Formats: sequence, C-alpha cells, structure tokens
Amino acid sequence: MPQLSRRAFASALPLGLLGGGLIGGVPAVAATQNIAKTPVSVTPLAQIRIGRFTVTALTDGYADMPYDYFPGRSPAEVEQAAVAQFTARQSGVRFLFNQYLIDDGDRRILIDAGAAGSIGQTGKLPQALAVLGLRLDQIDAVIVTHMHQDHMGGLIAGGKNNYPKAELYIDRRDVKHWTDPAKRSGAPDYLQTSFQMADEVVRLYPRLQSMDGEREIVRGVSIVDLTGHTPGHIGVRVEDEGKSLIMVSDMIFPVVHPGATDVFFLFEQDRAAAKAMRDRFFPLAASEGALIAATHMPFPGLGRVVADRGQMRWEVADWALQD
Ligand SMILES: [Zn+2]
Repeated sequence: MPQLSRRAFASALPLGLLGGGLIGGVPAVAATQNIAKTPVSVTPLAQIRIGRFTVTALTDGYADMPYDYFPGRSPAEVEQAAVAQFTARQSGVRFLFNQYLIDDGDRRILIDAGAAGSIGQTGKLPQALAVLGLRLDQIDAVIVTHMHQDHMGGLIAGGKNNYPKAELYIDRRDVKHWTDPAKRSGAPDYLQTSFQMADEVVRLYPRLQSMDGEREIVRGVSIVDLTGHTPGHIGVRVEDEGKSLIMVSDMIFPVVHPGATDVFFLFEQDRAAAKAMRDRFFPLAASEGALIAATHMPFPGLGRVVADRGQMRWEVADWALQD
C-alpha cells in the first residue's frame, strides 16, 4: 500500500476533524515528538454540512457563571446539578460562548460576535476566524441573535466597527429595547454594559438592518422568532437539500435546560415570556428531532432536545459525520 504523504493525509481528513493545529501547519508527527515541551495551543473548530452550506462552530471562550445566577432554583440545587453533569467549576457553571459561521461558497454569514473579553476568558473569535484563513473584513453579514453583551461585544471591541464589510441583522424589538434610555435607567447594573454596547453598535454600524418578524436572509438561511430571553431574541435556521440546523442562541442554558422551563438566567428581564417560549420550543424541538446549535452549551454546542421517558434532556450530536 502506498504511503500517504502528510499533505495527502491532511486533505483526506473528514471535515469534522479539521483542527487549528493542522490548518495552522503544525504537523501531527512533530507535535507527538515534542510532547515533553509546551503543548501546542489548538483553536477548536467543528464543521458540519447542511446541504450546500458549511457551518463552522467557533468559540470566543468561556466563563463560569455563579450558582446564584439561575432564578427559579437555589444556588445549592444548581451546584448539585452541575456537579452531577461535570460542568461545575470553582466559581459556577461553565458556560461556553459559541458562534457559528455559515458559508455557502459565495457569502459568509456569522451568527453572533462573542463577548470579546467583556466576560470571563473570551476574545478568541478573531483568532478562530484567522485559523480558517479569514479576516474580519471578509465576513459579509453578521446576524446578532439578541443584544446581550456576550453576543455583540465583538462587533465593537476597541470602540470601532470590527466587521466593516458586513451587513448587520438584529430584530427591531431588541434594537428598540436596548437603545431606550428609559429601559436603561430602570435596568440593573449587570445589564448596563449591554445597553452601552447597543448604543455603540447602532452608532458604528450604519448598515444595521432592524428586522421585523421571521424572514429569509439568503436562500436557505432564515430568522426564527424566539422572543422571550429578550424581546427580540431570534434563532437562525439553515436549511438545504432536506437537512436543517437551527441555531437557538440562549433558548438553552447548560445544567438547567431543557429539563425544566421554570428556571432562568439572571439576565432575563421578562421571565414569563422566557418560560412561555421554552414551554413551546422544547416539545417542538423534541418532536421534530431538530439539530440544534446553542451558544452556551459545551463546544461545539450541537445537539438535540429529546424526550426521554417524559423528561426533556440534551443529547449531544455527532458533529463529525453529518453527511
Ligand atoms: Zn448569552
């Protein structure tokens, strides 16, 4: 059997196995030989195909959310559940900040822009895009699922427009809410950063398109109304050739969802609305068997809601072999 060259081996890897080390030109063999030295830092990437679309999961980083950030359950209950699921850390529940890049070979659409250092250990999204060979000015559009700081911080980190070529899509209800001075003055301290960032995003992105309701962005990429977590909280459905993926942003938080809908995240200002949407969405997702991408679930955040003997739970999807 002829020996495969290293290049041939790398190009023969299934899409899902692409990793920062390989793309960055760090040969696997050399990494093994240098095992005693400082480990190579690998930027995590995961890719799936949805028809003609390549969807790449990227992550801006992580933060540990204190156990008292989950109204509806006591901190002790949240901690106990986190320990049972191996997501407990010293200072809380480990949250990822995942973003998703949709590429149809023509346009590159990014869903969310990350916290960019405004929370926890974040700010890695530009580096992840660089591993894919992309500069921020090569992104054609950014869909922001809602105007919390961990989803839009990267748009304006450093006080400038970081995606100068991108169309920006945000639901009008969120734009209205987060730029309303009356809402801002009545809001708690921990939401002030989001209000301040929202003003900056609107100022620095004159091409912002405020959207009303569900619509298509490009053929096969459409907005889904998931109001609740915020007034204009949206999801993004990617659909082609009978396959689909729905990016649901903050519909699902680790540890507490989808097992219950009467438990919340601190940043949710309208708990009744958040509960109503989860009460509707979880059973629907389970009956559809929809492939889901969720911002804060363990990387790459891909999975399904399944009804297991009457109890909703998260089932991690096999992201490497979706063809
Ligand atoms: Zn979030």
